[in-house]
Amino acid sequence: MIFLLHSRFHWQTTMNNEQFMALALEKAATSQNDLPIGAILVCDNQVIAASSNTKEKTSNPLNHAEKIVIEEGLKKLGDFRGKNIKLYVTLEPCPMCAAAIILSRIKEVYFGAYDLLYGAFGSKINMSQIMNSKIKIQGGILEDECSKILKNYFKQLREEEYGKSERTP
Ligand SMILES: [Zn+2]
Repeated sequence: MIFLLHSRFHWQTTMNNEQFMALALEKAATSQNDLPIGAILVCDNQVIAASSNTKEKTSNPLNHAEKIVIEEGLKKLGDFRGKNIKLYVTLEPCPMCAAAIILSRIKEVYFGAYDLLYGAFGSKINMSQIMNSKIKIQGGILEDECSKILKNYFKQLREEEYGKSERTP
């Protein structure tokens, strides 16, 4: 109820979850050879960092979209402690990113598609339970669009017989 009143009050200046996720999807679409996953970091309803997954591009298996926007955000804002930080990502975070999201004191996390293989906010494991965190989690935002971009990527890989169909986190 409070949330509803709040969002109605700010309806002209505040973007909603779907609009932020649409920005994360735009980022995902720029991933080229990388798995199309995009993330947006938001502070007080302003986007402060945006990235796609760049594991292949940077030859760094740790360069998941979420990790990149967290590091960019920390560089810009310093500590997230006491700040109203939300992270939007097109796919449910893996265990590494879920732990990083909790450790960096992000308040709310929103993801699009559920990841039954590696998802660490409820699908495979629940990192918030493991780390005893009260972070707010919501999945399924623009879920169809977020799954579709991944499915299309794998379909294209198979068509190219690229030989990289084994997915790793
Ligand atoms: Zn990750």
